[in-house]
Amino acid sequence: MSLRDLPAVHRLLAEPEIAAFARALGPGAVKATVDEVLDEVRRHVAREGAPVPSGATVSAEIGARLRRLERAGLLEVLNATGVLLHTNLGRAPLAPAALAAVAAAGGGYSNLEYDLDAGRRDSRYARVADLLRETTGAEDALVVNNCAAAVLLVLDTFARGREVVVARGELIEIGGGFRLPDVLERSGATLVEVGASNKAYLSDVERALSPRTALLLRSHLSNFKLSGFTASIAPAALAALGRRAGIPSVEDLGSGALIGLERYGLPHERTVGEAIADGLDLVAFSGDKLLGGPQAGIIAGRRALVARLRANPLLRALRVDKATLAALGATLRLYLEPGAPAGIPLYAMLERSVASLRARAEAIAGRIGARVVETESLAGGGTLPLAALPSIALALDVADADEFARLLRCGDPPVVGRITGGELLLDLRTVPPERDEDLTRAVARAAGV
Ligand SMILES: *Cc1c(COP(=O)(O)O)cnc(C)c1O
Repeated sequence: MSLRDLPAVHRLLAEPEIAAFARALGPGAVKATVDEVLDEVRRHVAREGAPVPSGATVSAEIGARLRRLERAGLLEVLNATGVLLHTNLGRAPLAPAALAAVAAAGGGYSNLEYDLDAGRRDSRYARVADLLRETTGAEDALVVNNCAAAVLLVLDTFARGREVVVARGELIEIGGGFRLPDVLERSGATLVEVGASNKAYLSDVERALSPRTALLLRSHLSNFKLSGFTASIAPAALAALGRRAGIPSVEDLGSGALIGLERYGLPHERTVGEAIADGLDLVAFSGDKLLGGPQAGIIAGRRALVARLRANPLLRALRVDKATLAALGATLRLYLEPGAPAGIPLYAMLERSVASLRARAEAIAGRIGARVVETESLAGGGTLPLAALPSIALALDVADADEFARLLRCGDPPVVGRITGGELLLDLRTVPPERDEDLTRAVARAAGV
């Protein structure tokens, strides 16, 4: 074989497996990839004396590169894991109203940093403050990139070079490398741990106060539960102690529910409003957990303290963009109406009845040779770690669950399931009903039928 035996460009472009990419990538991009691979092969052969590859090898390499390009960037995924706030899959899906707001503000200009009444520059951080005041009961609020950034900003503003008192049992690590003691250290604050791993009392905090104490910090346990012989400090008592001592109290709430979750048959999850009502001076929480909005970190609390956060130069490095503020504002507006926030996908998923999930599963099962099984969905996102929601899944009858799961993940759309006890399950609670047909087809394609 010589270089002359390489397939011609026009022949490669006519191969159906290569031509098919023109629809997604454009014919120019496909031609550029074909040229690029042929050039590389020629150079490889001429300079290094490599053997001339077969036409099939060349086509396969071109196909692989085009596929990588086609799948570059974020892909929409069907989440059949049953984990509602799956951090790896993007946590909370946005409400249609939030998507519309992103499209409107993002596709054009907006009053991001502009006061329309006065006709002059204004702060982007003030944009959603009114909505946050209304939905949390706080005097003022500030939005940054995520809750980790919110905690960092609070520590940097108030506690650099000073002491932060935390109960030992609340020194949490959540996913993605956020470890409270490490964040405290990076912010230049000194951690003062009080109490034992399982028990802490207000008197422990009182004894730890010194002229160097800058903050009293409490943290939501998020992804674990302390049970058995335990005692924790009542948040209202901590806040009252802080007020008596003139030291701000802060809660890292994490999940940031704005409404009670009991209506969904879930255990009570402390809401932002409760933390504010307990008297905590500042409360930090995520936008994309139980709030059901975009990734964001919100700090709500006392006006004077929020003003100090706003004046911290570090804020510039943690600032949110217009798409986030548009989505957050539209999501918060859905909470103004009492009751369950209409249109937030997270709450629609929580509301789905087992009977409705079973009916959907039964409609699909026969078409893909699956069994309908009972399972449990999880809230995820470091919230409600032990609360399992009864759900329904399709159990796929496949010889190799890992391999079939891989095929599903590589499909279009990619489907991510869950392997439990060697069985591949597709939990329907996290799949929107209008996507059942896409799910069914994806499974059929992966099975080669
Ligand atoms: C999730 C969580 C965080 C981090 O929130 P991000 O928005 O992901 O940065 C911080 N603290 C607690 C208690 C959490 O649950």
